[in-house]
Amino acid sequence: MKKYVFLEFALLSATLLFTSCNNRGTVVNNNDCQDTSKVRNVILMIGDGMSLPQVYAAMMTSENTTSFERFPVTGISITKSFNKEITDSAAGGTAIATGVKTKNGMIGMSADSIPVPSILDILAEKGKKTGVVVTSSITHATPASFLAKNINRNNNEEIAMDIANNEHLNIIVGGGRKYFETRKDSINLFDKMTSKGWKVFDYLPEDYSDDKIAVITSKKHMESAKIRGDILPQSVNFALKSLSNDENGFFLMVEGSQIDFAAHDNDSVTMIDELRDFDEAINIALDFAENNANTLVIVTADHETGGLTMIDPNGKYTATDFHWTTKSHSALPVPVFAFGSGAENFSGIMDNTDIMKRILKLIE
Ligand code: MG
Ligand code: ZN
Repeated sequence: MKKYVFLEFALLSATLLFTSCNNRGTVVNNNDCQDTSKVRNVILMIGDGMSLPQVYAAMMTSENTTSFERFPVTGISITKSFNKEITDSAAGGTAIATGVKTKNGMIGMSADSIPVPSILDILAEKGKKTGVVVTSSITHATPASFLAKNINRNNNEEIAMDIANNEHLNIIVGGGRKYFETRKDSINLFDKMTSKGWKVFDYLPEDYSDDKIAVITSKKHMESAKIRGDILPQSVNFALKSLSNDENGFFLMVEGSQIDFAAHDNDSVTMIDELRDFDEAINIALDFAENNANTLVIVTADHETGGLTMIDPNGKYTATDFHWTTKSHSALPVPVFAFGSGAENFSGIMDNTDIMKRILKLIE
C-alpha cells in the first residue's frame, strides 16, 4: 500500500517537473510556459441594468448552467455617480471606462467637464488593439464612455464624430448609422472613415483580417434579441479572432445594451431574452480565456434597472413571475465577475471607479 502511494507521488512529481514552468508561469494548451501573473488581453463586459436580481433571474429560468456560474471570483461594485445616488448609464459608463466619477448625463469627462482618457485610450497607447461590441447605437452612453468625450450623452452626432476621429480603434459593432450618414452638418462620417482605412459594413462580414472594421447594422439601436438573432455572440467571436492576431494583446468592451431597455419597460420576457443573449456572449469570452493565457474577463454592470425582485412564484420561476418596483434605475450595487489572469484582484466591495484602476495595475 505504502509503496503505491510513494509510486503515485513519484509519478506526480515527475509530471509536475516536466509540465510546470519557472517563476509564476503556468502551462497552457501548447505547453508554452507563460507568466500568467500579467494580463495581456482584457475583455470587459457590461450588462446594462444588470444587477444580481437580473443575473439570478437568468439563472432561474435557464435550462443550462449559465456563464455567470463559471466565474471563480465575484465582487460587488457601488454605482452611485458624482451627483446622484442613482446613476445613469453615462456617469456609470464613464466611471467604469475612465475611473472618474462624473455627473449623470456626461460622457468621458470629469464632473468639472475636463475630458479624461478611457481604459481603451490608455491601452491603445500601450500598443494594444481595441474593440467595442454593443447592441445599442454605438453612440449610446455606455460605448460612448469608452470612445468619446461629451458634456451630454444625447449629442449623438458629436459622439459619432469623436468615434470617426478615434485613432485608437480597430473594431466597432453596433447600431446608429443615422448619426454617421444623415447628419445636420451633411458630413458622411463613413466616407471619412473609409478614407482613413476603415472597412464599413452593415452586416457582420466573413473576413476578420482587416485592421479597422466598423459594423454598423441599423439606423439607431439594433432590434431586440428575439429579432436580431445571435449577432452579439457572433460579433464577440469575430472581434476575438480579429483582435487576437497581435502579440501586444487587446482590449475589448462588450455590452449587453438592451437588458436595460427591457427592464425600463418592466418586460420580463424580453429581459430574459437579452440576458440569454449576453450569457452566450460571455461564454464565448470565457472559452477564449480558457484557451488563451494572460486573458482577463470582467463582467459587471453600470447600474440596476427596474428595481427587480423575486417574490414567491408558487412553483418554478418563469419570466412572468418577476416583480418590478420602478420603471427607472435603482441604487442597488452590481456584481463584478472575474475570470482568468489576475481575476483574484476583483473580490470584495469596490467602487465602480476601482474596476479600471485594478485592471490597469495588472497590465504587462
Ligand atoms: Mg448602455
Ligand atoms: Zn437605463
